Amino acid sequence: MREIIIAGNWKMNAPELRAFAAGMPSGANAPRGVRLIIFPPFPYISAAVRELPAEIGAQDISEHEYGAYTGEVSAAMLLESGAKYTLVGHSERRRFHAETDAIVRLKARRALDSGLRPIICVGETDAERRRGETQGVISAQITAALEGLSREDAARVIIAYEPVWAIGAGVSASPKDAGEVCRAIREVLRYLFEDTAEDIHILYGGSMNSMNSAALLAQPDIDGGLIGSASLDSDAFTGIIKTAAAAAADH
Ligand code: PEP
Repeated sequence: MREIIIAGNWKMNAPELRAFAAGMPSGANAPRGVRLIIFPPFPYISAAVRELPAEIGAQDISEHEYGAYTGEVSAAMLLESGAKYTLVGHSERRRFHAETDAIVRLKARRALDSGLRPIICVGETDAERRRGETQGVISAQITAALEGLSREDAARVIIAYEPVWAIGAGVSASPKDAGEVCRAIREVLRYLFEDTAEDIHILYGGSMNSMNSAALLAQPDIDGGLIGSASLDSDAFTGIIKTAAAAAADH
């Protein structure tokens, strides 16, 4: 049985850590069956590891091991800061930083080889969706990132289905549509990794909030959420965590 993962992507925002932590469930109130991960900006990773009742990840990783790559942060540095996860191929990186499928693949490999778990983001644009290309686009992105991985490495990967048109839009994909795409993602994973596909988490991301999270998490192939805007406010984020805990109890 796959536990539910609730992950907050803070992007280039930094809520005050202690105040945020105070609003989050922890200790005896920690949600059962729910794994919490927060992705703060790089400079806040170490403090977030100390302050937040959650595991911590990085929003990006260099595909290089070390060297003359100004502005880049290596896997070893992230591990030293206490990160356990890294986002890879977020659509904002693909769009604003020209990250190609080839770079996404290198970053995913670098993360896995170093001991970080990659959350690999895939998703179609609005134009691709209108042309009926969603499944083809996603299948190509996943295959490019993962083909040839060992079963052990594949089991450490997390996929985030993030329709580009829903990110930061205030309107999510419908639970039915998101569930269907995540089912199609599971099929691609079965084709690539057979039985291991059942162990791989698939998250939905794109304007998930405390109102729509129950219906999204009720979809059999949606194993959690990658949440941007609603993860910046601990009350809103805690609302989603509570929904996830209820969904985990129902499993
Ligand atoms: C994201 O950036 O990964 C995301 C899902 O953002 P939002 O929840 O704001 O759509």
